Amino acid sequence: MARRDQVHADNADGPWFVDTRCIGCDVARHWAPGLIGMDDKGRSFLSRQPHTEADTAALWRAAVACPTQSIGNREVVRPPAGVFPYELTVGVHALGYNAPSSFGGHSYLVLRPAGNLMVDSPRYARGLTEAVDRLGGVKHVLLSHRDEVADAARWASRYHARVWIHQDDADAAPFATDITRSEEVVDTGVVTIPIPGHTKGHVAYHVDNRWLFTGDSLFWNHRRQELDITPKQTWYSWGALADSMDSIAELNVEWVFPAHGKWHQIGVDHFSHQMARLGPAMREIGQRQWSQRAHTPFIWDE
Ligand code: SF4
Repeated sequence: MARRDQVHADNADGPWFVDTRCIGCDVARHWAPGLIGMDDKGRSFLSRQPHTEADTAALWRAAVACPTQSIGNREVVRPPAGVFPYELTVGVHALGYNAPSSFGGHSYLVLRPAGNLMVDSPRYARGLTEAVDRLGGVKHVLLSHRDEVADAARWASRYHARVWIHQDDADAAPFATDITRSEEVVDTGVVTIPIPGHTKGHVAYHVDNRWLFTGDSLFWNHRRQELDITPKQTWYSWGALADSMDSIAELNVEWVFPAHGKWHQIGVDHFSHQMARLGPAMREIGQRQWSQRAHTPFIWDE
C-alpha cells in the first residue's frame, strides 16, 4: 500500500499520489504515460490527476504493477477486479504485479492450445493466481536470465510446470527442470535462443514465429521511439550483446516483449530494418558513448 506519509512533493493535487519509495523502474510510465512524470532522480510523481475512465484504468494498472506499491488513491484503497492479466495482443497478456526482486521486470502469459507459457515471473499474488487459473494455468515457465527469477518457483509449483533457464544463469534457479545450452525447442513453435551480453546466460524466446520475448536485452525505447539496449546494465559483455543482436536480426518478429523497457508492436519489416543496424551501430559507437546518448534519438534512416 502506498505511504501517505511519504508522498512525492511534485504530485498533482487530488486523490491519486505516488510515494517516495519509488525505485525509478519506469513501469508506471509504461502503463500510464502522460499521467506519471519523472523527477531528476528518476523517481515517479503524479503529473496530473485522471480525467477519464481510461486514465483511471491506466493508473490502476500502474498501481498494481508497481513493484514498491508506491501509487495510491486516498479515496479508493483496493484496485478493481481484473486489472491483470491484461491482454496486450490476442494470446499475450501482461501479468503486472512486477516483483521488487527483479527491479520491476515485466512478465507475460502466452495462451497456447498446447499449454500456456509464463515468460519471466511476476510476484506470486492471490489476485493474480486465481486469474491465471482461469486462463488455464502454466505449462512452462520460461526464464530469460538470472535477474527475472522472482517467484518462479512458487508459480511452477502451483502448476507443476517445467522451468527453463540457460546453464550459465542456472544457479539463480536451482529448481529449474530444463537447462538449455544452445538454441533449443521448448515446445512446438517455441524456441530458446542464447543472446549473451546483459548476462552470460541470457536467452530470448521466439514464439509462433512472430513474438520475441527479450528479457533485459532489447526493448522499445518509448522516448526515442526505437529498439534499444541498455549500455549501463550490460554486465557481461558489450561485444557479445552486439553479436547477439546480429543473431536475432533476421527472425520474423511482429511484437517485442521485454522484461525491462516497453513492449511494442514493431512489425516484421521495421524489426528487420532496425536490427540490421543495431549490432553494427553498437560496435561503432561503443558502450560508453551509447550510455552518454541515452536520450538522443538514433537516426535509423540516415
Ligand atoms: S512502477 Fe513504482 S517503482 Fe516503478 S517507477 Fe513507477 S512508481 Fe516508481
